[in-house]
Amino acid sequence: MKITIMGSGYVGLVTGACFAELGNTVICADNDAKKISGLKKGISPIFEPGLEELIANNVKAKRLSFSTDIKGAVKSSEIIFIAVGTPPQDSGEADLTGIENVARNIALSMSGYRLIVEKSTVPVETGEWVKKTISSHIGSGIKFDVASNPEFLREGSAISDFMHPDRIVIGVESKKARDLLIALYRPLNAPIVVTNIKSAELIKHASNAFLATKISFINAISQICDKVGADVEEVAQGMGLDRRIGRSFLSTGIGYGGSCFPKDLDAFIHISDKIGYNFSLLKSVKAINEEQRRFILKKIKSVLWIIKDKTIGVLGLSFKPDTDDIRNAPAIELIRALQEEGAKIKVYDPQAMKKAKQVLKKVIFCKNSYEVCKGSDCLLVVTEWNEFKELDFAKIKKLLKRPLLIDGRNMYEPEKLINAGFTYVGIGRKTHG
Ligand code: NAD
Repeated sequence: MKITIMGSGYVGLVTGACFAELGNTVICADNDAKKISGLKKGISPIFEPGLEELIANNVKAKRLSFSTDIKGAVKSSEIIFIAVGTPPQDSGEADLTGIENVARNIALSMSGYRLIVEKSTVPVETGEWVKKTISSHIGSGIKFDVASNPEFLREGSAISDFMHPDRIVIGVESKKARDLLIALYRPLNAPIVVTNIKSAELIKHASNAFLATKISFINAISQICDKVGADVEEVAQGMGLDRRIGRSFLSTGIGYGGSCFPKDLDAFIHISDKIGYNFSLLKSVKAINEEQRRFILKKIKSVLWIIKDKTIGVLGLSFKPDTDDIRNAPAIELIRALQEEGAKIKVYDPQAMKKAKQVLKKVIFCKNSYEVCKGSDCLLVVTEWNEFKELDFAKIKKLLKRPLLIDGRNMYEPEKLINAGFTYVGIGRKTHG
């Protein structure tokens, strides 16, 4: 099939490259000329495992191309996915300016039938607005369909998530739209849930809100564990083996972040309020998350006492491992809070340093984890990158001023660290040493 993806970011590029890999002819379009010219030279604007190779192979096979020419891209494709950003406004409401803009541009470029598919995460009823926008800008007699096909991929495992999804959700209003999307996704051999457009939009917000709720739930339990000396990892394991509950998303830490959960929760709370439902559960989920992000600071103070003039070594900047994405990353907020208290910060991340350099000031960016440790008063692990699991703690002990490890992700076995002579501070588990 001939497909255009409007918006070549984390979702648009992965979607475009994967559809091309499945044998379709795909144009990834974007209004960021720098991004498109880089992509034309084979440079991916984001780090996502396997993406650069997938792009290169499909460009070579002439199935994938990049363009800023929106008109041309719409002309040559029957299916057009909208994958532009839907960032939060100060009120929490999703900013749908990009969606409206793209919908209008598509309408102005359409000369015959097109299926326009919302891939971006949008509040329920956005599809209605997309339809109205297109209707009011197309020439007479031109037919179109709007569909919703929310994306569930996770950064860091995006290609595998796209190619092997748990389910594909398509919200449609016509047989033609349904048939086109089912045919497009058939090679993935995954369960397809066909709904109306509003249900599909809601499935995405409801899924992310539910996952965020699981995280906040275990984080609330971690606070109780902390107060009574229980171990949240043991509690999570004991709960998670119950198949009705499940172990996934019961990992405690310093709160969820990233470009999706905080924004999608805000947007869901906002649209619920707007249509007359007070989603108080989600308001609490958000409040617990904000509290958890402050909790780590209290933990650091409980062992370092005075923060001023201390050097804190930080491992991890991205909001999760295997990505360079620092949007709403807890590490960035935490580093700024520590700097406000007068701390000096040394930091290392395997992929996110370039993006972090654009937003963090007065931070020492190091070449590796050991350079971070040299002369630091403690080591604070914020993102659970695999390479941080393999560190040589005997070496680290010699480099730190004091063998103190604050594990913001509970990624180490406390005994291992204690045996290596460290004071170990985790979340929702006893401080040892
Ligand atoms: P992103 O910021 O990485 O990419 C968005 C792209 O859209 C950018 O390249 C931008 O230049 C382009 N763009 C913006 N306005 C445009 C316009 N008018 N015309 C053409 N291009 C335009 O964002 P993302 O992380 O890929 O997210 C996109 C959407 O997908 C969001 O709604 C997000 O919530 C959703 N989503 C994201 C993820 C994720 O893990 N990142 C997962 C599932 C769903």
